[in-house]
Amino acid sequence: MMNKTIIITGGAGFIGSHVVRTFVNKYPDYHIVNLDALTYAGNLENLRDIEDKPNYTFVKEDITDAAAMFRIFAEYQPDGIIHLAAESHVDRSIADPSAFVMTNVIGTVNLLNAAREIWKDNFAGKRFHHVSTDEVFGALGAEGLFTEETAYDPHSPYSASKASSDHFVRAYHDTYGLPMVLTNCSNNYGPNHFPEKLIPLCIHNILNNRPLPIYGDGRYTRDWLFVIDHATAIDLVFHEGKDGDAYNVGGFNEWQNIDLVKELCKQVDEKLGRPAGTAEQLITFVKDRPGHDLRYAIDATKINQELGWYPSVTFEEGLSKTIDWFLNNKEWLESVTSGDYQKYYDQQYKG
Ligand code: NAD
Repeated sequence: MMNKTIIITGGAGFIGSHVVRTFVNKYPDYHIVNLDALTYAGNLENLRDIEDKPNYTFVKEDITDAAAMFRIFAEYQPDGIIHLAAESHVDRSIADPSAFVMTNVIGTVNLLNAAREIWKDNFAGKRFHHVSTDEVFGALGAEGLFTEETAYDPHSPYSASKASSDHFVRAYHDTYGLPMVLTNCSNNYGPNHFPEKLIPLCIHNILNNRPLPIYGDGRYTRDWLFVIDHATAIDLVFHEGKDGDAYNVGGFNEWQNIDLVKELCKQVDEKLGRPAGTAEQLITFVKDRPGHDLRYAIDATKINQELGWYPSVTFEEGLSKTIDWFLNNKEWLESVTSGDYQKYYDQQYKG
């Protein structure tokens, strides 16, 4: 007997697949419904190890389809929603903002409406967990950290769409009483990361002896979190977070892009038994991204103090696990770097 049904949107994506795996394995008495449209970023290969479990169901559907959301919510009667489905890549949002408005804003509102409809404003025991990013807070100078009180100041079409979705989730809480929690997380990395993002892109390019493109002077600073630690944080906030609250999630771990890529090169050379400095020769500085935010850094004190969460690995350990995963899963890497991704890559870096 399943004692809870949870719809996880975007469960075939990078972070979503780790969240789905965590929930399916940890809560055998929950029915986990993975709702995903399988865009270029969705890959069911990510979930092969759990797809036959009796408490797991996959539903291919697009969250921009409002009628489909009402139908699916009526069919599965979820007690909780963990919403990760999104267009997630900043460079793509600069090239085509509309898809980001459709999925990230309209799609989120469709889910909120479907939740209200099936819960009929009787919200006891229900929860909508919206997964968002630290990019909604804008950029920092050399000093300071984003806290849960930092005012929103998004700069890219991606972060503007995520900020908008965050506001809608809060508005449904304040207007209709819809129970919600919100997490704003820093940059994730780890197994199954799509190789348009910095770390897997560099691993892929090193293995193929291609340039490692670094924007501007490489001094952009980000906080990095191992993806499995993000999944653990989502599990904790979904179950124990305070209704209506937001929690910042971060790795207590800031890196300038250039230093990060040098550390990555060093580790890959060591793992491949090559002379130090081999991979670093591939570093190439490329034209900066428009509106590029200088620094993001997150203060994750609240989730640490209220819920006892802290990252389980250091960045060097997480990076080492990540590189090992990519070296052991070259087929996965090849399969996702063909076709559409290849075209996108050529347009972005060769155009
Ligand atoms: P991803 O791009 O790897 O995966 C997104 C998933 O959503 C894919 O499986 C895709 O098929 C699905 N999807 C996209 N549009 C859809 C639609 N219209 N209907 C249904 N499914 C759709 O993204 P990710 O990196 O795993 O990010 C997941 C969430 O976490 C996003 O909301 C993102 O904003 C947030 N986030 C990401 C990071 C990060 O570093 N990657 C950091 C903080 C927050």
